[in-house]
Parts: sequence; structure tokens; C-alpha cells
Amino acid sequence: MAEEQRDRRGARDAREGEPEAGEPWGRSVRPEEADAWEALVATARRTVSDGLVVGTSGNVSVRVGDTVLVTPSGVPYDRLTPDDVTGVDLDGGRVLGALVPTSELPMHLAVYRATDAGAVVHTHAVHATAVSTLVPELPLIHYMAGALGGPVRVAPYATYGTAELAENMLRALTDRTACLLQNHGTIAYGATLDQAYDRTAQLEWMSRLWLTASSVPGLSPALLSEAQVAEAGERLRGYGQRG
Ligand SMILES: [Zn+2]
Repeated sequence: MAEEQRDRRGARDAREGEPEAGEPWGRSVRPEEADAWEALVATARRTVSDGLVVGTSGNVSVRVGDTVLVTPSGVPYDRLTPDDVTGVDLDGGRVLGALVPTSELPMHLAVYRATDAGAVVHTHAVHATAVSTLVPELPLIHYMAGALGGPVRVAPYATYGTAELAENMLRALTDRTACLLQNHGTIAYGATLDQAYDRTAQLEWMSRLWLTASSVPGLSPALLSEAQVAEAGERLRGYGQRG
């Protein structure tokens, strides 16, 4: 297996930019795709090192033109190499790589088809997932909800990898850049991998904040109004967090 991969890399290097008969899914990796893959792998590893993902229980994608690079199914992120570039078109047809794309591909593609997203991050972050089992919307515990477009909704449960889950998610994402997936996790998108990652981290942090404030016996947290969060959102956009 390792030998095979090394041989394929050799072939790819030798015929940069041309279709390769030996490649499982057609064409070779373009330079901008190789760069995007490197950034994608770094972001995926960051979700693990920052505690947002355990094992391979999340996935990351980035759009390069009409190609979506996405983490493959079941491969630990620390084992991903430059040879493992996995890419599909916007309909999910494989155009790059020999590995099987993440089973959550329908959610990623639904985001790209419906929005101007440049990158998508999906995790099973523990506090956000806990909140998804408790409420239909994350209570407005902090004005940073404004950075995600407003109150963060919870998409109703559906089996992972299904079109039904992707539909539920898209509805929950209306006018938002992130949502929770009931009894499942988070999804967030942005113009860049860093932005999608930061939104994911903010959502997990706000979820943790609400759980912490809500867990004091005999007290319940003060919440903000939608108008207060909307006003904060305007200011945040003014500080260059557009997108
Ligand atoms: Zn998942």
C-alpha cells in the first residue's frame, strides 16, 4: 500500500498538470489544490489538538474553483500526506484521489451549493453537542452570536450522511454561518478555512459558556435580546469580520 502510494506520487510529479491514466479518479493535482490541501490538513489537525474533535469524528473541506477538497473517511489526520488529496465536484463526483471522501459529504456540498462558502468545518465538539440535545436554539448568552449571524439554531436530528440531514442543516443555516446538529455536532462555514475554524471554536466556546452559567443551582443566566446581538453583529462586521 505504502509502496503503491509512493509510485503514484512519482507518476504525478513527472506529469504535473496532465491527466493520468493510472490515477483512480482522473486528473492530477493542481498547485493551488496542493496548497489548499496542506491548509485543510493543518485545520483538521487543529480541530483535534484543540479538543473539538476526537479521532476522526469530524471533517473539513475547502473549495478551489469548482472542486471541493475534503477529508477522507476514516483516516486519522496525523496520517494524511500530500499524496492523499481527496477532491470531488459540486455534485459529489470524485475528481481527485483514491481515498473515499467523508461520509458527511452531502452536508459539505449542500453548503457550497447554497452559499458563497470557501470552507466548511464539521465537528462533534462536546459542549456544542451537549447543547444540541437540550434546546432548539442556543440561548443568547453572549454577543458573539452576532458573529454567526444571530441566534444559533439546532437542526433536527437525521441519520449522518443523509440528504435529510443536509436539508435540516441548510434550513438551520438560513442567515447564519453556523448551526448545531441535534445529538450530533456543529457545522460552520466561512470565506476561508481559518474563518470556518474560528466560527466553530466560537460556537463551542459559547455553548460551554451557556452550560457553565446554566449549571449554577438556583440561578439562571441573564440573556441578551436579538436586537442586542444584531447590534453587536453590525459592529463586528465593521471590524473586518465580514463573510
Ligand atoms: Zn458528524
